[in-house]
Amino acid sequence: MVIIFAVIAPKPHVGTHQSYKTMRKNLLIISAILLAAFAAMIVSSCNNAIQQKRMITVSILPQKFMLEKIVGDKFVISCMLNEGNNPEAYEPSMTHLMNIEHSVAYFCIGYIGFEYAIIDKAHANNPDLKIYNNSDGIETIQGTHFSPEGKHDEADPHLWTSVRNAMTISKNMLDAVIELDPDNAKTYTANFNNFKAELETLDAEIKAKLAAKQGSAFLVWHPSLSYFAQDYGLKQVSLEYEGKEIPIDKLKQNIDAARESKATVLFVQQEFDSRQAETIGNELGVKMIKINPMGYEWESELTKIADAIANN
Ligand SMILES: [Zn+2]
Repeated sequence: MVIIFAVIAPKPHVGTHQSYKTMRKNLLIISAILLAAFAAMIVSSCNNAIQQKRMITVSILPQKFMLEKIVGDKFVISCMLNEGNNPEAYEPSMTHLMNIEHSVAYFCIGYIGFEYAIIDKAHANNPDLKIYNNSDGIETIQGTHFSPEGKHDEADPHLWTSVRNAMTISKNMLDAVIELDPDNAKTYTANFNNFKAELETLDAEIKAKLAAKQGSAFLVWHPSLSYFAQDYGLKQVSLEYEGKEIPIDKLKQNIDAARESKATVLFVQQEFDSRQAETIGNELGVKMIKINPMGYEWESELTKIADAIANN
């Protein structure tokens, strides 16, 4: 501002008194225009700052990974579940609840128990919060998974361990962010199209890797790969018993079933870590592989799982 006034400051020694008056008037008008422009600049930069701070909360890190592919840095993405948290025994921290209160939207993944409790709480504190289910339209698998309450007939919640489901999830995300920020619809659509192409390539690559393994089985402690198995014609054999450790009297039966499946790999996941898994893995002589399908590196995790099945 100081510079602007110094440059346009009136110079009385130039011209007659009359023209000096006119010039002063003109300069005042110019100053007013510049001031208005400057004020507009400040307002718009403030608006940008506010827009940059808009936050979307998601439930799990693979959602954060997918959403960032679409929105870039136009939203801050806060995630409820961090590395190593077990989604089936999760209590959100104060920070997470605060984040959701300051979010414009909450993107749930659909069938994880803690989401229902959060939605109620968050809505009470932030009635404007928009809630989107990223798994809308995905056909769920039933009967593969025990809920923490021991129910077996509910939808398997691990929908995100499938590249094909990720296409639906990210399309749902796209629709939601366009609703939240229509001004940037073009950018979001272009980003989505790039990501969709990436997913199609990934799906084709995994399909090719696993083509020779059609119909074969793999072992997993917790059944988190039902959708992955379905996509590529594989059989998932889960070792845990009704979502828990295997009781001694069921152990032999369980090991026999695993052996019969002729699987050669056993996937274990840090969130559902069990020493039993290691004992059984050793007894069966299968290759044990630690996976992290709840992590941010979603694409490389799925590739790692496919490679492990293809190469063992
Ligand atoms: Zn589970």
